Amino acid sequence: MRRWQLGPGWLGAVLLMAPLAGQAQQSAHVHGAVRLDVAVDAASVSLQLEAPLDSLLGFERAPRSDAERRAVEALRVQLAQAAALFAVDAGAGCVAQAPVIKSALLDGAAKAGEHADLEASYLLRCRQPGVLKVIDLNGLMTAFSRIQRVEVQVATPGGQLKQTLKRPQAMVRLTR
Ligand SMILES: [Zn+2]
Repeated sequence: MRRWQLGPGWLGAVLLMAPLAGQAQQSAHVHGAVRLDVAVDAASVSLQLEAPLDSLLGFERAPRSDAERRAVEALRVQLAQAAALFAVDAGAGCVAQAPVIKSALLDGAAKAGEHADLEASYLLRCRQPGVLKVIDLNGLMTAFSRIQRVEVQVATPGGQLKQTLKRPQAMVRLTR
């Protein structure tokens, strides 16, 4: 069982004790699913997307054809467009920073015969992140039609909540 499927109280205790990086490594590799960790603080919203490459690209090895090479380039371009993937209320005054994308395949180092993941980290600097009630993932779901499920974990000053979005659901709630 993955840690974050346990009760929120237990999870809170783990978050106090364990660094977040350790948590991220626990997640499962399920084709068609992605994981999104959202953290809201007084001045920013951070979004950590962790996905099997199959969920984004449909394959997890080095591209073998021009079409597959184009798909990899298109993925790179799509992932760079934070505002197109994650929509937030304009009233929060958020500006997206350049994302950090980690993937052996995008770096040309995919190993044949192995599953491969991608991690993309987004940071929105916001004047008033507290006004945000939801984050709209319709852009993400439209860009990547293979995503069927998003496992979301949200941490805000008001507490933590987790939710599972199943297509066509695409709204991440930031409050209970
Ligand atoms: Zn895989």
